[in-house]
Amino acid sequence: MSNGQCIALIAHDQKKDDMADFARVHEAVLSQFEIVATGTTGGRVQDACPSLNVVRLKSGPLGGDQQIGALIATGNVQLLIFFVDPLTAMPHDVDVKALMRLATVYDVPMALNRATAEQLALFQPASL
Ligand code: PGA
Repeated sequence: MSNGQCIALIAHDQKKDDMADFARVHEAVLSQFEIVATGTTGGRVQDACPSLNVVRLKSGPLGGDQQIGALIATGNVQLLIFFVDPLTAMPHDVDVKALMRLATVYDVPMALNRATAEQLALFQPASL
């Protein structure tokens, strides 16, 4: 049963295995939240965690990052978990930067790597 708060999940291609594993490990925690994700990431998380109800947006390069940015700007995402790949050039790099900027503007907690996401998971859900 969702607590009404929403977590957004995104992982770049080299980080998708990590995101699927993170979701599997924390499936019970994540199940307390609404989950939105970019298209491919959402598919991987849904496959890894059939119990979750993952709302899949467009794939990142096709506008999914911007859709999540819009949800942040409208107050509909309370936490961003975004496993970025700093070693690969991306065609939608400007979208990635814009999303990080909006999360900063709206002071939304943003985990950009697994180590940070694990720390946030430790403190859930009372701190969210
Ligand atoms: P994807 O998008 O989950 O659809 O691959 C993520 C991204 O690359 O921004």
